[in-house]
Amino acid sequence: MEALKDQGNDAVRRKDFHAAVDLYTRAIEAAKACAVPDHEVAPLHSNASFACLKLGDFAQARAHAGSAVAANPTWSKGHFRLGEALFATSDYAGAEKAYSRASELAVEDVTLKKKVALAREAMAGFYFRQLLAGRDFAVSAGNMIERQIFSSAKQMQNYVYLVGDARTREAVVVDAAWDVKGIRSFAAAENMKLVGAVVTHYHFDHTGGTPPPPFDQLGIKVPGVRELAVEDKLPVYVNKDDAKTVMKSNGVPSESLTLLEDGGEVSIGSVKLKFIHTPGHTPGSQCIHIERPEQDILISGDTLFIGSCGRLDLPDCNAKLMYNSLQKKLSALPATTRVYPGHDYGGPYTTISREREQGFLKPMNEGEWMRMHGH
Ligand SMILES: [Zn+2]
Repeated sequence: MEALKDQGNDAVRRKDFHAAVDLYTRAIEAAKACAVPDHEVAPLHSNASFACLKLGDFAQARAHAGSAVAANPTWSKGHFRLGEALFATSDYAGAEKAYSRASELAVEDVTLKKKVALAREAMAGFYFRQLLAGRDFAVSAGNMIERQIFSSAKQMQNYVYLVGDARTREAVVVDAAWDVKGIRSFAAAENMKLVGAVVTHYHFDHTGGTPPPPFDQLGIKVPGVRELAVEDKLPVYVNKDDAKTVMKSNGVPSESLTLLEDGGEVSIGSVKLKFIHTPGHTPGSQCIHIERPEQDILISGDTLFIGSCGRLDLPDCNAKLMYNSLQKKLSALPATTRVYPGHDYGGPYTTISREREQGFLKPMNEGEWMRMHGH
């Protein structure tokens, strides 16, 4: 039995999961034949469950996990495997129960606590993640070029967002840049499938492509939405007024682009994204508004920051348009709306009410605003 188990583990290391299932199954039979105690059989079922899951054989993954639990009901790992098998078949309530039991039996295990939270989130249906450059992606560079790119990413403090339906496990990525591989693996680790790339505006730190001076001296192209469009065949959602630049400077093929206008909507499962055209920082800047029963969410790109707004001194900027975007459009959103900006300039989020009180949504007439910006 031990020899078969070791061979099974070797097969897993080689990623030959068919062979692994076969070897574990034979080990289980051998164990039964020589009346091996149940608690020693449980790991064989657990390993077989893992290999079945890798093969996409969810029914067998579940059956083996169930046998592992039956063989050793106080072994955390068996319950964890059962949770994994149930989660894979979208039985989130069942997965939550199994993960919770696993967590009770191994209270120190942080991964299990996270699994319980993921199952609960899947039951509720809404998926939202704020990823920070240098923390959640652009972390460990594999070569010199990546080292350069990741160090700039960290300096720029860009946020990337994943938004979607936690039940169907589909999400769009907002402002994918710097480290497409890292963003992909973040999503994969949470069992999320990327189904689209949303662009808040064309600037390279939000989309990738050829950077402006002084970064252009490096002669490096920053990965971003182009890779997601070309390699992953994802649709790219961009406001029509930034679309040309996204094609030209980011190299996104025109057939990948879905052009949005003010008020446009995109649904990811049961989650609806509403686009608000907020020109000013760029002509096609847009914010994403998601209505939630408890508190709305606004992904504000470089339009609204905590206590400030995006730069207005670049060639494509327009202070008057920014005034309208802030004071007419964003200011009209529900006061409790949580605002998630494009960069970490002093924290992860703010609210519309806070920005109305002490930020750039504070009521102001157009003349004052224009003087403030040197007009
Ligand atoms: Zn920008």
